[in-house]
Amino acid sequence: MKKLLLLFYFLSLNLMANELPELGSYTDNIFSSADEDKISKQILYQVNKNPLVVKDSEIDDYLSHLGRRLMNGTSLANKNTKFFILNDSTINAFATLGGVIGVHTGLFLAANTESELASVLGHEIAHLTQKHLPRIIAKQKRDSYKTTLALAFALLVSRSNPDLAAASSTVANASAVQNTLDFTRKHEQEADREGIKILDRAGFDVRASIDFFKTMQKGNQFSQGAAPAFLRTHPVTTDRISDIQDRLSEYPYKQRLDSDNFYYVKGKIRAFLEQKNTIIKILETNIKNKSYINESGERFALAYAYLRNNMINKARNELQIIKKKKAPNPMLLNLEAIILIQEGKKNEATKLYKKGLTMFPSHRAFVYGLAEHYIRSSKTTIAIDLLNEYLLIYPEDPNLYELMAKAQAGEGKVLLQHENLAESFYYRYNIKEAITLLDLAVRAKDGNFYEKSRVESRLKELKREWALFSKGL
Ligand SMILES: [Zn+2]
Repeated sequence: MKKLLLLFYFLSLNLMANELPELGSYTDNIFSSADEDKISKQILYQVNKNPLVVKDSEIDDYLSHLGRRLMNGTSLANKNTKFFILNDSTINAFATLGGVIGVHTGLFLAANTESELASVLGHEIAHLTQKHLPRIIAKQKRDSYKTTLALAFALLVSRSNPDLAAASSTVANASAVQNTLDFTRKHEQEADREGIKILDRAGFDVRASIDFFKTMQKGNQFSQGAAPAFLRTHPVTTDRISDIQDRLSEYPYKQRLDSDNFYYVKGKIRAFLEQKNTIIKILETNIKNKSYINESGERFALAYAYLRNNMINKARNELQIIKKKKAPNPMLLNLEAIILIQEGKKNEATKLYKKGLTMFPSHRAFVYGLAEHYIRSSKTTIAIDLLNEYLLIYPEDPNLYELMAKAQAGEGKVLLQHENLAESFYYRYNIKEAITLLDLAVRAKDGNFYEKSRVESRLKELKREWALFSKGL
């Protein structure tokens, strides 16, 4: 497996190799919570416009549920930590300022068990709970942390733009990486130790952390040439591994079964992100030779790979085999509904979506699927009722607003279409575009008095927010 290890905490690149201050000895408010919020929104804005960010609600929801479970009992339990997935085959996850954690698809694919995936997330969450960034930045002058922030953004942007990637690794190399290695090791060790506690508290197998390090080290041996210099020197050392091993001896062995969702999510990622023309052959061969960790996960991937190639009957066959073996699961139901739609069985698909929503009311993919299905079948008023119902529960869900905009467009409602599209941009952290669309909504010829005054006051509100936001820190 030609994957490289990149478990890096990228802001640590720009640091001096000083002792860490004790937790609590610095002022926690190096960033005010308003600053923190602003940084978080700026990062999430970059994230949302990044074309490599995976926008699949099932994969997204799985990751944030797993994240929330791991954060339970930590100082982050009630904080608004955001997770996102980047389509990148390297094995990596990173925690940034503003409580944002990114995970590469390569990490999902390389993790053999859910505990292995959780071990990396736990490590990243520990970087946040240990406030490594505020501790780092507390050592810097007000001006130089802006440089740090700029570097953070450059690296984030570089993830979607290969041309910039070259430029930003030069920046990284120039920033005295060698000097920061000791510092980084301390952070990494602390995150490893805290990560184990987090993993244990959430009921995962703590030994997975060591298993996964070994998997990654193995992968790393084959990718020396491809790895940029600062990655080659990144310290996943035998020291670090033996430190983890020492800690693990305190924990009794705990067997833990992986959730079906872990394998289904992994399957979906493989089906959509691996090479379209080779993935079917690979999965078929694996199933034929029984070379897989989880048979249903493998078949689930194959079913989606078939769908991607319009091989609907074959997809249906795989689904039938899985259904005989496995418990009802929202991801299975969603797959079946998609197959039914492709088979042209629209009424059956509608029924299944509704059943899915009754059985698994928080599985948003059903709402999206059902609303889209209604919009495509010109049943826009039913779509609008459904979306209104769920907007009450999820008033910050950009997908619901986007679908609502489509449904309102179908009804010929200009003001409502622009208003909802504006909200979808707003909740993807693009305030500027939201303002442009609200401007259009205000100028729309339709809309009653009540609707007009609502969009006018919302426009004022967003303009105020934008003025604050664009002022900088
Ligand atoms: Zn780390």
